[in-house]
Amino acid sequence: MIILPLVVCSLVAGAASLDPSALGRLGGWALLFFLLTTLLASAQGVLLAFLIQPGQGVQQSKPLGGKSDLPPAKDVVDSFLDLIRNIFPSNLVSATFRSYMTTNYTFVPVKKNLTDEQGVVWENVTVLKVPIGGEVEGMNILGLVVFAIVFGIALRKLGAEGENLIKFFNSFNEATMVLVSWIMWYAPLGIMFLVAGKIVEMEDVVQLFTSLGKYICCCLVGHAIHGLIVLPGIYFIFTRRNPYRFLWGIFTPLATAFGTSSSSATLPLMMKCVEEKNGVSKHISRFILPIGATVNMDGAALFQCVAAVFIAQLNSLPLDFIQVITILVTATASSVGAAGIPAGGVLTLAIILEAVGLPTNDISLILAVDWLVDRTCTVLNVEGDAFGAGLLQVYTEKTMGKAEAEELMEIKTDGLETSKGASVEEGSPLIKRDGPALLEGVNSCEKESVM
Ligand code: ASP
Repeated sequence: MIILPLVVCSLVAGAASLDPSALGRLGGWALLFFLLTTLLASAQGVLLAFLIQPGQGVQQSKPLGGKSDLPPAKDVVDSFLDLIRNIFPSNLVSATFRSYMTTNYTFVPVKKNLTDEQGVVWENVTVLKVPIGGEVEGMNILGLVVFAIVFGIALRKLGAEGENLIKFFNSFNEATMVLVSWIMWYAPLGIMFLVAGKIVEMEDVVQLFTSLGKYICCCLVGHAIHGLIVLPGIYFIFTRRNPYRFLWGIFTPLATAFGTSSSSATLPLMMKCVEEKNGVSKHISRFILPIGATVNMDGAALFQCVAAVFIAQLNSLPLDFIQVITILVTATASSVGAAGIPAGGVLTLAIILEAVGLPTNDISLILAVDWLVDRTCTVLNVEGDAFGAGLLQVYTEKTMGKAEAEELMEIKTDGLETSKGASVEEGSPLIKRDGPALLEGVNSCEKESVM
């Protein structure tokens, strides 16, 4: 309910509020950070899977967990082409609930006459594999993200004419955030029931754990190392600030990610906490976090690498160096294509397996335990986005000119009552603020408590 208005409004407002060069700089750094950390997570996944060897000694005789809803087999190239097609939705309204997917193949015979050296004419029949695709249920969030960013840039280009619409998107966004703050009160209870419900659903938890224990352990250890050591380490190296204090600030969204297994569902809470508890400016968080929730999935890349090596070991198929590199690259790319929804990463796991020639039907094993692995995976996915926003905030504070930094400060404290009681407008640098000076150093967390 909240994801659609939040993603679209925050990105339109975010893109409109940053000047194009800052937008390009911030976006570029963010994408570089996302790419490198995802590659790092993939490498860690492969390394751990080779060390722990989760595929040794797993019996495959019984179907585990009772799930068999495997994704349809698709060529690697079509998986990536689907991603590109989704970037440019043909219909914006349908993109809010449907996305494009190659669902099937048809084989078309193509006849060609060939003449050999003796002048004999042969009929050569080749079979052409033609992908058939169409719209399937599920929001095309990538298309919406791209549209919102471009639309925001266009609004900024309009100058004074675009101000009203920027104001509209800003206030829509603010109203959505108020809804989020109400929803937050329900989060602890909701998360508890979500997890408890899943455990009760399992038919034989003990059997599942004993059979696939090493695989689960490998993923959880990998997620823990990346989330508690690697990402905080990177944050510390670049900012010299305490990364665990930063993590504490986003504890509620991390718990929500664990409970919902969905980056998209966690996005509203993450925005709120990153801004209010960790002091990231709205300019940055509202621009970077929706992009991160769509394309940055360290947890998914890590578990996909573990799963690929696990399936290879299970089938006693040794992996050579080229295959390992293929796993790393395709896992990084396919994690971009994974939707921020429960089991989004398992669906794109098929891309990696196809790329290295591993059997895709073993995904059923991964699906059986995904209800647990997906939780820590989602926590890591959203944590990476938050650290990205935190790093950009520090980078902006250090490198921006005085005027720009002040402008960010204004956005950070917007909405506060001024000393004369007039409410300060949220917004873009395009919108003139002619009120009294803002109260500095007070953040909007306090504003919420007043509410
Ligand atoms: N559930 C994950 C997320 O929402 C995606 C995945 O399955 O890897 O981030």
